[in-house]
Amino acid sequence: NATTTRRVDRRFRDCYRVGETLGKGGFAVVKRVTERSTGRPYAVKIMSLPPVGVEPGDNESTREDIAKEIDILCGLDHPNVVGMKEWFEEGGKVYLITELVGGGELLEAVIRRGAYGEAEARGCFASLMAGIAYLHSRNVAHRDLKLENLLLATPDDITQVKIADFGLAKRSPGGAMSTVCGTPQYVAPEVIAGTPGVVYGPQVDMWSAGVVLFILLCGYPPFYAESEPALFDQIRRGAYGFDDPAWDAVTPAAKDLISRLLAVDPAARPTASECLGHPWLRGGGEGGGPGT
Ligand code: ADP
Ligand code: MG
Repeated sequence: NATTTRRVDRRFRDCYRVGETLGKGGFAVVKRVTERSTGRPYAVKIMSLPPVGVEPGDNESTREDIAKEIDILCGLDHPNVVGMKEWFEEGGKVYLITELVGGGELLEAVIRRGAYGEAEARGCFASLMAGIAYLHSRNVAHRDLKLENLLLATPDDITQVKIADFGLAKRSPGGAMSTVCGTPQYVAPEVIAGTPGVVYGPQVDMWSAGVVLFILLCGYPPFYAESEPALFDQIRRGAYGFDDPAWDAVTPAAKDLISRLLAVDPAARPTASECLGHPWLRGGGEGGGPGT
């Protein structure tokens, strides 16, 4: 990839001053850094590389995973996708320098508020759909969309998200992916089915987006169970509902969009561009009270 800016000539710590930890996921720690030459702030995602010739443990990415993540990120440029600057490989670690996103995880915003109002959910979801439409137009399926991987661009606007964490992303020119992956509560039914040889595509992101929109509007997940087999059973049946009183004030248009996204048949789900044309998202501006 010609755009990959992998630094071999300079050392990470000579170029960046490391600051506080911004977040942790299953595979990496992310810290704030300052570029010494310009004083500009960025984020660094630090990932451990497994020693050459050793099988990675459950919580480690393989060298191939990491190179793939970086390769994908390098080719992307969209306001709703976290931008990447350069990367270093030193001492068994990869240091990935990305745009610093200042508003925190969407998960934290939802926890703080309980749930989003409908007008704010509309703005937030529209920004997510713009990012996903861009990714899918580049034949990139994210495959791990969830509230922890969606970052708010700024602290004072809860409607602009940037999509982060491409650790599980795969290029899918033929729509062909067949590894079981993702996070249980957000995973699409066809991924759970996991039939060898069965191919699933970018529609898995649309299912996860449906889970995200559900949580945004009511503050709890559509699928929840004490055990993973029970959870997977609910997902396979598409067994969720709008019975809770939290849904009483939500418009039929919003529920319609959720039920289209949470279609068990992947082919029945709308694409991200189709979502942007859905009446609920086109209804922007007005408050979105019942009946609008
Ligand atoms: P993992 O692959 O381990 O899940 P992520 O890329 O999701 O790693 O990063 C972990 C957490 O770090 C995120 O959930 C978020 O809180 C924070 N984070 C990641 N990237 C940035 C960034 N560019 N700016 C600010 N915070 C970030
Ligand atoms: Mg993550």
